[in-house]
Amino acid sequence: MSKKISLHFHGEFDKLLPPDQRNVDFNHELKETRSVKDLIESIGVPHTEIDIIIVNDESVNFEYLVKPNDRIQLYPTSRQTKAELINISPLIHCQPEPLTVPRFVLDVHLGKLAAYLRMLGFDSLYRNDYDDPTLATISANEQRTLLTCDRQLLMRKQVSHGYFVRARQPQQQLLEVLSRFYLFELKKPFTRCMHCNGITQAVSKQEIETQLLPATKKHYNKFFQCISCKKIYWEGSHYLKMQAEINKLKAGEI
Ligand SMILES: [Zn+2]
Repeated sequence: MSKKISLHFHGEFDKLLPPDQRNVDFNHELKETRSVKDLIESIGVPHTEIDIIIVNDESVNFEYLVKPNDRIQLYPTSRQTKAELINISPLIHCQPEPLTVPRFVLDVHLGKLAAYLRMLGFDSLYRNDYDDPTLATISANEQRTLLTCDRQLLMRKQVSHGYFVRARQPQQQLLEVLSRFYLFELKKPFTRCMHCNGITQAVSKQEIETQLLPATKKHYNKFFQCISCKKIYWEGSHYLKMQAEINKLKAGEI
C-alpha cells in the first residue's frame, strides 16, 4: 500500500520551506502514524504558522491522524478567508483567537525589534538572558505572543501564540509584525519606554531641561519620561524616519 501523501503550503513560507515546497503540491512519504501537527513540524513549519488544515476537502484540527493518500492543504492565519475555503463547512481555525490587547515576548536576538515595538507603545518583554524554556513559559503564563527567528522554540507544546519573524533587518521586522498582527491603528507612540518597557508620561521641558543636550534643548519642546527608569524621549529624527516608513507600508508603497 502506498504511504505517500500530498501536501501544499499556501502563503508566505519562504524562510521555513525549500523553494520546491512553496505554494505547490508535493509528495511526502508517511513513515509512521502521526498527527498532522507532528507532520508539519517534522517538515520544518511550527504549528503557530498554520491556521487552517484541509484534508481531502474537509477541515481538521492539529490532532488529526494522517492517513496514506491524504491530500493536505495548509493555510496561514489571515483575516480574509481564501475563496477556495468559503464553501467548506465547518471551517476549523487551529490558531487561538488573537489577544485582545497585543502583548509580546521576544527572543534574545530581537532586542532592536523589542525597542521599536515599545517605541510605538506595545508591551514587549525582552531580556538578553531569557532562555527557551523561560520564553515559552512567559508566553503561555502571561498570554504574550512569542516573537522569534527560532522555529524550534515555536514548536514547543506550551506555545499557543507565536510568530516566526522572517525579516532579518530590525525595521523590516517591525513592519512585518505590524502588518501580521494588524497593529497600525493600535500604536500609541511614546507611551512606553524603549529601554525598560515601563510606562511613560508627558513631562514639561522645564522639569528636565538640565538633563538635555544643547541641540535637543534647542530643537524640541515635547518630551516624555519613563516612570520606572526616568529615561527621557522626544520625537527626534529616528522616530520621524520610522513613522515615514510605516506610512509608506500602510499606503502599499513598500
Ligand atoms: Zn524605562
